[in-house]
Amino acid sequence: PKTAYVRTKPHLNIGTMGHVDHGKTTLTAAITKVLSDRGAGGAYTPFDRIDRAPEEARRGITINIAHVEYETDTRHYAHVDMPGHADYVKNMVTGAAQLDGAILVVSALDGVMPQTAEHVLLARQVGVDHIVVALNKADAGDDELTDLVELEVRELLTAHGYGGDSAPVVRVSGLRALEGDPRWTAAVEALLDAVDTYVPMPVRYTDAPFLLPVENVLTISGRGTVVTGAVERGAVRVGDRVEVLGAGITTVVTGLETFGKPMEAAEAGDSVALLLRGVPRDSVRRGHVAAAPGSVTPSRCFRAQVYVLSAREGGRTTPVSTGYRPQFYIRTADVVGEVDLGGAGLAHPGDTVPVTVELGRAVPLEPGLGFAIREGGRTVGAGTVTALL
Ligand code: GDP
Ligand code: MG
Repeated sequence: PKTAYVRTKPHLNIGTMGHVDHGKTTLTAAITKVLSDRGAGGAYTPFDRIDRAPEEARRGITINIAHVEYETDTRHYAHVDMPGHADYVKNMVTGAAQLDGAILVVSALDGVMPQTAEHVLLARQVGVDHIVVALNKADAGDDELTDLVELEVRELLTAHGYGGDSAPVVRVSGLRALEGDPRWTAAVEALLDAVDTYVPMPVRYTDAPFLLPVENVLTISGRGTVVTGAVERGAVRVGDRVEVLGAGITTVVTGLETFGKPMEAAEAGDSVALLLRGVPRDSVRRGHVAAAPGSVTPSRCFRAQVYVLSAREGGRTTPVSTGYRPQFYIRTADVVGEVDLGGAGLAHPGDTVPVTVELGRAVPLEPGLGFAIREGGRTVGAGTVTALL
């Protein structure tokens, strides 16, 4: 039998973000290596286990493939690392990963690049309040250039309201730490100390009715259908009834696991797999929401405040007008919606505007919920729901 998950330390969700090839995955692997070598909780997760294809990861009740797990002296972390920019937007920017803090990885050789800036902007939009900077590849850069990159990153953070002067910036080498070099192992330890102290324990809404946005659906032969995701709020126990919004099903939770370990109860902030009684595999999809029965009502129409990304941030070069129909990434759902810009009728890249949206199908919505707007595979806007109609 598998060992049960024992909650001995507070649990937080963090993630690496930053431009492609700046070393996010290497650093993620290095963190798990440094901690496992030290004898802290959590196993070493090598690079290719983090960057692997989703299909290969579907063994047993596996939670979201992009998560790794580790423990520092004071905390248990679930850490999300995304292979590509689009995955990042889908999983993290929509709030699906529920990040309590982020490690912004910036190559000391290249400095701030377009995806560095876009991730900081979108992190702000979805309410990630604390960012720790890893100036990676410090083994290969010279000090003067690295000083300039540090200034540039602090300015970027300040420009997005992150207090760039006080944010921890740690010079690391994921690659050398992974090779066991003592100097760079110590640097990764320093980075983890910064995360432990700078990212506060978030307020968890454990008393609210249970809600979990479905990230993945798997079939475990002989056991049934499993949905995975991070608990957004509330708690769920084995034996509880849950409604799957989108699937039109109400059923019973017959099993719960986190990182392959069975658990009796999961609460807000936990990454879990829920085994559901008698649910056909094809009836549940990513984007559905599992919730306490009757606690949420899906809606199609809402008002929102939307920021239209500028061309410099990778957004559109032309304005949008009433009748615009992009994709909305809301929690884990990807839904088409039609935008009404009201009186002005037009919004230019770089503008922040109030809009009314009518979605192609109803999804659970509430004021304060963040979302991303995508078009042709790229992010063109980010917004927050202000009212339901
Ligand atoms: P990601 O796209 O941000 O996940 O980047 P990867 O972790 O895949 O790394 C991209 C490339 O940078 C790889 O060739 C790594 O070996 C290299 N790399 C990553 N970290 C370091 C580092 O600390 N120092 C050096 N010199 N190279 C690194
Ligand atoms: Mg990577």
